[in-house]
Amino acid sequence: MSGSAAMQEATAPVEARGAAKKKEAEFRDYRAEARPSVKELYRLNHENQTLATVLAKKKQFLSLDRRVMGVWEALEFMDQLVDDSDPDTENSQIAHALQSAEAARRDGQPRWLVLTALIHDLGKILALWGEPQWAVVGDTFPVGCAWSDKIVFPELFAKNPDTHVAAYQTACGIYEEGCGLDNVHMSWGHDEFLYHVVKDYLPLEALYMIRYHSFYPAHREGAYGHLMNEQDREMFAWVKRFNPYDLYSKADAPPDVKKLEPFYRELIAEYFPRELRW
Ligand code: FE
Ligand code: FE
Repeated sequence: MSGSAAMQEATAPVEARGAAKKKEAEFRDYRAEARPSVKELYRLNHENQTLATVLAKKKQFLSLDRRVMGVWEALEFMDQLVDDSDPDTENSQIAHALQSAEAARRDGQPRWLVLTALIHDLGKILALWGEPQWAVVGDTFPVGCAWSDKIVFPELFAKNPDTHVAAYQTACGIYEEGCGLDNVHMSWGHDEFLYHVVKDYLPLEALYMIRYHSFYPAHREGAYGHLMNEQDREMFAWVKRFNPYDLYSKADAPPDVKKLEPFYRELIAEYFPRELRW
């Protein structure tokens, strides 16, 4: 499935915008047959995210030599994308970015956290470079060790080739207990990619939010504690704190991009150089 095919596929049924605000329990409802593209996305994700695939994607993308571009420019560039893995929104990515950031700002969060909310999904520009959505979006999980049954649609791992590698099927797999997540290869996607683009410019708390915001099996379900170290445990408090701005801001009214642009351009300039390598 090419990125553009995925994007077309995701343009279908639109929930009435401005409809009554969703209740919190109604988010991340993967039973929602209304979006069959979500389960199809996870079928491809769980079948294809092997340790070998992750290592190959890292080699392919982490040289950051695809494009030189500023953060606001990247937001505008990414605005063409709808995320197939997300049962909660049909809004454009720039709307999601601004809704998350504005929710954090309303709560009086520090400026670096508001900025983090704004940019957290920018790694999705991978999809605009032709990457299939299974290699861009969706919940993330470690590869090279046993899959937790707390991962969404765990049964879909049955066709992942790593099933047949005994060394990858123990709780720790190729890792050591307590080795720390920095030493663990996560399934490849927008979290990991953006982390590498911005890692020199933001505080550690922000980097954790960016790198692990899709790691629901850990930050929501408490799985994979055996691979974490002290720093991970401390920093996951911030990953959890960030989550509501990502998740529950999606039902908010569409933001006025033009009106908000000056504020966010200034905030971006406070932390980032004019251009970043992607
Ligand atoms: Fe995300
Ligand atoms: Fe998001």
